[in-house]
Amino acid sequence: MALTGAPMLTSSASAATLKDGRWCNPARGYFPSGGHYGAPRGSYPHAGQDVTNSTGTAVYAAAAGTVIRRGTGVLTGRSGYGLVLSHGSGRYTYYGHLSRFRIALNARVSVGQRIGDMGATGNVTGPHLHFETHAGGLGATTNPVTYLSARGVDLGGGWSAISPGAAGTTVRAIQYLITQRGTKLVADGVYGSVSVSAVKKFQTSRGLVADGQVGPKTWPKLVYSLRQGNSGSHVRALQVMLNKHSAGLAVDGGFGSVTTSAVRAYQSANRLYVDGLAGAKTWEALVG
Ligand SMILES: [Zn+2]
Repeated sequence: MALTGAPMLTSSASAATLKDGRWCNPARGYFPSGGHYGAPRGSYPHAGQDVTNSTGTAVYAAAAGTVIRRGTGVLTGRSGYGLVLSHGSGRYTYYGHLSRFRIALNARVSVGQRIGDMGATGNVTGPHLHFETHAGGLGATTNPVTYLSARGVDLGGGWSAISPGAAGTTVRAIQYLITQRGTKLVADGVYGSVSVSAVKKFQTSRGLVADGQVGPKTWPKLVYSLRQGNSGSHVRALQVMLNKHSAGLAVDGGFGSVTTSAVRAYQSANRLYVDGLAGAKTWEALVG
């Protein structure tokens, strides 16, 4: 819970932005009552969206950027330990009430990198992430739910929506998964025409609308339930997604004990059932 420096309630200035693969869900959890953007908070409306989970839940960079502020009271009216990331072009994200920082001030961060832990520092009633998006300058807050939704991200959890023209690690994972499904693709992380055609072919084969968008209907049919002993391109897909979230694995396509440990660590940090198996819920979180 935090206040804005000014009573700003601008909607996303670029709601039509492509779902470009460059943003991801910062934390898994649920939206508490009254924790929405614009909710009444004394003199000013609530400047972000609250995402509730337990203390220690992983908090990830929602996009690549630079840590420009780190500490307490780093934005006017905000309490507890907070981080501000700059993403260029006047875009910023803020992460509040953290229990722990996992990056240094001025550090460069990649999208999906773990930057801190959820907590209950500052003026709160319980542990949660207070997450803000700013577009058009620091202080120009926008609704984080709609801002991320316009970029194919479901804040708090849920499958991502990756559209033609997207780029990034999640696209690499799609390319590895499609390769495992029988159409060999170069895993270059660019969702161009060859990859889109292959996805459309896969969608048609599964009775899905062949729109080339890898979203909540396509993902569950595209991913594999994986466990220790599996090997192949689908395991590479898993490894690159774990690495997007700071696992540091060799992308060798072999699901051995090191990958099992990474899956378990990811599940634990994201409050998923910890079994070391990469099933649908784990994939949903990883690609979100
Ligand atoms: Zn809040």
